[in-house]
Amino acid sequence: MDIDTAIPSLIPEDTIFSDFLILDQSVKGRRLVYLDNAATTQKPLPVLLATRHYYEAINSNIHRGTHHLARTATEEHEKARIRVARHLNAATADEVIFTSGTTGGINLVADILALSGRIGPGDEILISTLEHHSNIVPWQMCCQKTGASLKVIPCHDDGTLDQDAFEKLLGPKTKVLALTWVSNAFGTVNPVAQMVHLAKEAGALVLIDAAQAAPHFPIDVQALGADFLAFSGHKLYAPTGIGVLWGRADLLGELPPWQGGGEMIKEVSFEKTTYNDLPFKYEAGTPHIEGAIGLAAALDYVDDIGMDAIHEHENVLIRTAADGLSRIPGMRFFGPDDRSGSLSFLIDGIHHYDLGTLLDQMGVAVRTGHHCCQPLMARFGITGTVRASFALYNTPADVEALVESTEKAVSMLR
Ligand code: PLP
Repeated sequence: MDIDTAIPSLIPEDTIFSDFLILDQSVKGRRLVYLDNAATTQKPLPVLLATRHYYEAINSNIHRGTHHLARTATEEHEKARIRVARHLNAATADEVIFTSGTTGGINLVADILALSGRIGPGDEILISTLEHHSNIVPWQMCCQKTGASLKVIPCHDDGTLDQDAFEKLLGPKTKVLALTWVSNAFGTVNPVAQMVHLAKEAGALVLIDAAQAAPHFPIDVQALGADFLAFSGHKLYAPTGIGVLWGRADLLGELPPWQGGGEMIKEVSFEKTTYNDLPFKYEAGTPHIEGAIGLAAALDYVDDIGMDAIHEHENVLIRTAADGLSRIPGMRFFGPDDRSGSLSFLIDGIHHYDLGTLLDQMGVAVRTGHHCCQPLMARFGITGTVRASFALYNTPADVEALVESTEKAVSMLR
């Protein structure tokens, strides 16, 4: 098939291979084509070097040490927090809580809201059909603890949310709207600005799951107007095990602490404990110090390229891939045409797992299955899809490999 190779790569090919060392390898005798970026991204050399430098030069536990290493590690960790705050345009770095990832951030919020007494029997928590299990199960658990009920915004056949139904579901009983910005399964981009606005007017608290938004476009939490936003470092070129929960300082200041332990206290006696200020109130125990430092290096990397440029580059690749794949008979895409990050599809008569396995034989890494969105798959009457998901280092040649390998696999499976 003809892929428009006039589309430039975002970064020169030799830079891709020198920055993302893992991509410079063959799988089954073919160049590795990595299109599983919605699951996790590869890490550029500056991120690897930052974490290596941490262990080679400054490894120490942070915050309470008086010695040189402890002070240096603390400074680097807190500089990382400021770096994240700048990336998100947060009002203050105290609003940046380091977590283990998006899942950690959402569980934190669901638990403290349940503990706070702000949610009770008869109240409603609103999520959408597009949610990842990480933005479903914590709210089901929150409902079990509080007696609230879970309501779900339905979606249309094109994988966009039904906005009329959303407006009807919103009401005085809605205490929380927990919504993904971008669907990891279908690539649908929700109109979050408008939905946040309506939910806030209805008096609800709003949490945005930005796991699939943060890698693809700029985020301005002050402009967005939500109360909480969570994302994972590993989907944004940073190490695994580090993530961010951003929350409005006034709100987090009022809400109860979550896990108990070191760091989150001011004073402890057997009779009474007083809690630390933000952000430490929500960071019990030794944090993922090198993860935070690696995340800051990843943000430097993407901001040097520019989030808008990354967004535009990936969109061109996705559209080109959809064009090429659409020529395969029996092709069915999920999600709207203006999707972001992920391209999900099925081909008549072919199981997603079989196609994914054959693509792997040809060096093309895609993900198959339910993508942790079983209720969404049930809504469409399917067990899973094939998902190709894109990152800044993907090239037109990767798209060509995806399309050609899929054509070949289909001819073998039919
Ligand atoms: N939300 C969305 C939309 C996701 O895509 C994912 C991961 O794929 C998550 C939440 C959970 O992220 P993590 O496993 O990094 O906590």
